[in-house]
Amino acid sequence: MEDEAPHVAILPSIGIGHLISLIEFSKKLVDHHNFHTTLIIPTIGSPPDAMIEALHGLPSTINHIFLPPVQYQDMPENDPPPLLISRAISLSLSPLRQVIKSLVASTKLVVFIADAFAIETVDVAEEFNVPWYVFLSMSAMCLSLFLYLPTLDDLVSCEYRDIIEPVKLPGCIPIQGNDLFEGVQDLKSEYYVWLLSMTKRLHLAKGIMVNTFKELEPGTIKVLQEKTLCKSSVYAIGPLIRIDTNNLDNDDVFYCLKWLDDQAQGSVIFVSFGSGGRLSTEQMNELAFGLEMSEHAFLWVVKSPNDESVNAAYFNIRSQNDPFDFLPRGFLERTKGRGLVMPSWAPQIHILSHESTGGFLTHCGWNSVSESIVNGVPMIAWPLFAEQKMNAVLLTNDIKVAIRPKVGENGLVVREEISEVVKNLMGREERKRMCEVMSGLKEAAAKALAIDGDSPNAISELAMEWTNHTEID
Ligand code: UDP
Repeated sequence: MEDEAPHVAILPSIGIGHLISLIEFSKKLVDHHNFHTTLIIPTIGSPPDAMIEALHGLPSTINHIFLPPVQYQDMPENDPPPLLISRAISLSLSPLRQVIKSLVASTKLVVFIADAFAIETVDVAEEFNVPWYVFLSMSAMCLSLFLYLPTLDDLVSCEYRDIIEPVKLPGCIPIQGNDLFEGVQDLKSEYYVWLLSMTKRLHLAKGIMVNTFKELEPGTIKVLQEKTLCKSSVYAIGPLIRIDTNNLDNDDVFYCLKWLDDQAQGSVIFVSFGSGGRLSTEQMNELAFGLEMSEHAFLWVVKSPNDESVNAAYFNIRSQNDPFDFLPRGFLERTKGRGLVMPSWAPQIHILSHESTGGFLTHCGWNSVSESIVNGVPMIAWPLFAEQKMNAVLLTNDIKVAIRPKVGENGLVVREEISEVVKNLMGREERKRMCEVMSGLKEAAAKALAIDGDSPNAISELAMEWTNHTEID
């Protein structure tokens, strides 16, 4: 054996949002427990720049291997990202097997951790007799839905969105059926059938790690840890967010942070729909006019619109067209000084931690939510796809640190509504209340991450479990 340190194989799901928290998790294992890790990364097409950048400069104890990319032409065209991810993982099982085989031969491999959407990998772990754990880069509320779904499926005979009463997921605030994870919105769809079978296999994991923390989702974490829903142990190891990132030498990044330096404290609303979110042409237009009407300072990461799909850029972050071409005529001139528009990608973590940033209009991706909470920034919750509506419900109805704009019957959030929610978030009485709650949560997040906090303690427990396992063997 070439490497005597306990070794952890980690398979993130496809998409930068899923990789980021697992890189942070790797750092904790390496820095505090003397483990070595290998990130085994599946991709569809070539990896985007943001992914290469996220992997750049990691210590040699965190290795990474790209599995041969699955080609877009081998994928059905209109499937939602989780289904595509699952298909791509299935196509990658053979090279994955080779990687695990070589890790078993050359390292002291103590555990194989896979993203929840890569459920098929359990077979590879079993084949090599390596303990298999699952990592969920989503909320505990989402895990509660996943683990409860087989029961819900037995109980309910109509579409979830047609249930009049809100659905009661174990340990969670009641939620309307149409706000549940997008995969459960059509019981006859292939997406639902896949999701149901995935959730039925989750209990095969020896443990499930969730990127959340107790003060954020106390009731849900409690129920999940009682083991009534699933016999696997559940560990709340969050909030793991990206800390050092983004090439600050890049001109756009430098200019953006310099622009923020010149704004008043807490005055800027940051607007971003994550790595993959897209608006329709009409919605982008309304957003531009809404921001303009609000008269507040804004920093907007613009992607070219897509009228077919809200997650069109999920695997390919950069806009194919110049997004500025889709802004209303004269918008940039009229908002000059008060607004900054960045194409495709911005140094989000630096923006959210900047003292000029006072609000975040977000698509409610779980990393974005966690980053906002760690930095104490209240939000406008504008969910687009996946489990984002569930996150919006958690933020607005449960912990009350966000405002959710009303979507009109035509599916659009109109400019007047946008302007109103921006004014409420940035300037009115509501802001004071949300900032107070947020500041408590920010403190709780820092406490969870501090030495001897809940997050390092949960990771220590896991590290001990993994090393003891090999010693017994
Ligand atoms: N991100 C960034 N710059 C951008 C857009 C996204 O740095 O312009 C980062 C963001 O900080 C977060 C991740 O990419 O860590 C997005 O993950 P999230 O779960 O919020 O959403 P997803 O992109 O998976 O929908």
